[in-house]
Amino acid sequence: MAENQRTETLSSFAPRHHPIFAPSAFPALTHCLHFRNAGTESTNAARGTSQHELLAKILTNQPIPEDVDANDLACVEWAAQVINNCTSAENREVEVGFTLLDDDWQEVTFGTADVVSMTPRATGDILVVVDYKSGSYKEYRPQLHVYSRMAMQRHGVNRCECHILYGMDRHDETFRVNYNETNYIIDIINQINADQLGEKKINEFCQYCSHQPTCPQTKAIITSITKSENYDITDIVDWKIENASPDKLGQMYLVASWLEKFSQRIKEGVKQKIKDGLEVPGYHFVSVTRRSISDIPAAFEASGLTQEEFLDACTVSAARLEKKMGKANFEASMAGLIHESVSEQLKRVGK
Ligand code: SF4
Repeated sequence: MAENQRTETLSSFAPRHHPIFAPSAFPALTHCLHFRNAGTESTNAARGTSQHELLAKILTNQPIPEDVDANDLACVEWAAQVINNCTSAENREVEVGFTLLDDDWQEVTFGTADVVSMTPRATGDILVVVDYKSGSYKEYRPQLHVYSRMAMQRHGVNRCECHILYGMDRHDETFRVNYNETNYIIDIINQINADQLGEKKINEFCQYCSHQPTCPQTKAIITSITKSENYDITDIVDWKIENASPDKLGQMYLVASWLEKFSQRIKEGVKQKIKDGLEVPGYHFVSVTRRSISDIPAAFEASGLTQEEFLDACTVSAARLEKKMGKANFEASMAGLIHESVSEQLKRVGK
């Protein structure tokens, strides 16, 4: 990228008085400038972090922890394979921290791209930026546009190849972007700076927004649903869990469960339509096959591995082993060998 282009772009920033947005906020900001990240922690977020750490270890040839989850490992091994195919290892940087600065050297945004590499191809060198996702498909391109803009600035080029790798779905979303096509990122920042936030617009990232509990858009949807179901709790979004009475907590849980089922029904229905061949803009059907082997002795025979190597790839179902051995025998023999993970849920007992 020409130096004058960079100067022109950076000088277009208005003075900053907004919070600094991480690149992961831009997919939501593209739809709704009111979006503010709630920063909630979840099991999925923890899984995402551990898969990213694992991927970084594989790409930098560090030892893999022995107790790593087999599914996590399979997801990131697939991603590492794709990264090895689309980037050159010699020029590859892993977990690359970037900062975008304005004219006053103020931080506009910052972030860590999973992989950046200037990669030789038959048609010449191309800058490649890769982001790994442990969850399912969402419109993450704006996040990649932020990474690629920062990477293009650093490498002084105008073009970038982006890969969003969905480990769970084994899907590589590949696209190319030119520097000017990322200018809308700057427009977003400038609009927020100028307090020109426009209307709140429901989008697929609302669940991560700190405004969601009180957002009129969310409230309108919940109100219409709870009214149609004759639940007398249309002001649910104004309730605070900390102050709610036990009765209201029960009602809130009921509505939350109903909304969950409602969402599930819609998602399953749309998925089936697409599976049946209907084209729905922005979505495509992906099927993931999970593999397991039940004939362990035959697998051992066929593997050609030593017993120790083979057992390293095995897990045992505690429930099935307990059934075979009997509860008492199982408990006496297996105590100390069992890894426990607890899943917690509420069971409705009626009223
Ligand atoms: S919850 Fe409301 S404010 Fe937040 S992103 Fe969604 S529509 Fe915008």
